[in-house]
Amino acid sequence: MPETASKKNILDFTPEELGVAVTELGGQKFRGAQVFGWLAKGVTDYDEMTNVPKDLRKKLDESYYIGLPEAVRTQKSKDGTVKCLFRFADGTEVESVFMKYEYGNSICISSQSGCRMGCAFCASTMDGLDRSLTGGEMLGQVLAMKKLTGSEIGHVVVMGMGEPFDNYEGLKRFIDLIHDKRGYDLGLRNITVSTCGIIPKIKKFAKDFPQVNLAVSLHAPNQEIRKISMPAARKYGYDELLEACREYTETTGRRITFEYAVIDGFNDSAACASELADRLKGWLAHVNLIPLNEVKGRSYKTANDRSVKKFKEILEKNGVAVTVRRTLGNDIDAACGQLRRRHAGS
Ligand code: SAH
Repeated sequence: MPETASKKNILDFTPEELGVAVTELGGQKFRGAQVFGWLAKGVTDYDEMTNVPKDLRKKLDESYYIGLPEAVRTQKSKDGTVKCLFRFADGTEVESVFMKYEYGNSICISSQSGCRMGCAFCASTMDGLDRSLTGGEMLGQVLAMKKLTGSEIGHVVVMGMGEPFDNYEGLKRFIDLIHDKRGYDLGLRNITVSTCGIIPKIKKFAKDFPQVNLAVSLHAPNQEIRKISMPAARKYGYDELLEACREYTETTGRRITFEYAVIDGFNDSAACASELADRLKGWLAHVNLIPLNEVKGRSYKTANDRSVKKFKEILEKNGVAVTVRRTLGNDIDAACGQLRRRHAGS
């Protein structure tokens, strides 16, 4: 049994909960916020918490571990992208990616190890769901990556492995933890969550976090095409999904992003582009065209540059805001989920 088996991950705790925890250990309540502040700085040893009394540090160490994941494999790209396979204390592995943008550094974190959504083009779902991550484990990826790269991280996208809305409680806690002023203090507008379209959670998210950005993986201009590659579409139909997205833009006043992975001969025709444009015309929305990362063992191929360009033009002509996602880290690995599979020898 690992040493941590009987201990709890202290990164999962809010300052209030830490206040209770330290009181139980005989410390003063205000120490909770102090400890929380140190954790957000990425400390890995209680002895680094120099303004916390020594005996309290010792007691904390006996009951709680600081759950920064261990980097078991790291790949660095020429463009500054760093992709990392992180392992938690129980052996669970996830991927995170650090990216440099003009507006600052960003990290893409995982919300689950594996995924049970079953999208036909995605590597993360090929072995199903291992388990959901806790909020503290999501925070741990940010802290560990910051340490690993020695860089500030001012933006977080929850677009790694897993479906964040299939782990709503973990996601909610993560946002509350990383946003807390006494800790990492990340602005809500600097967080983006991506979902495959779990409608009830989109509605809940709009109420809980109206300032956090939402991206929806659409990948098709209609239900017929969408349900072929995205099993979630069988439960949450296209029209109903768009309705929920529109409601999101209306209640939050925020622009929504639609992700559209352009797949050769599947969803990349001019007819698809026109149909999508018709659906989204006049929306407070933005379409992000993603050149598909080809996944070993999957038959989908990336669309050629010409059809992506044409697709973009058609959307633009119809007044739909569109960008083509810049491909970062192409020289290190492809789609999310591949590093973990490769490492496992699959
Ligand atoms: N479960 C969330 C987050 C998943 S990953 C969601 O579905 O949105 C983030 C994005 O990458 C999603 O839009 C997902 O559909 C997309 N994606 C998955 N596999 C891909 C691949 N091989 N190439 C390009 N994009 C991919």
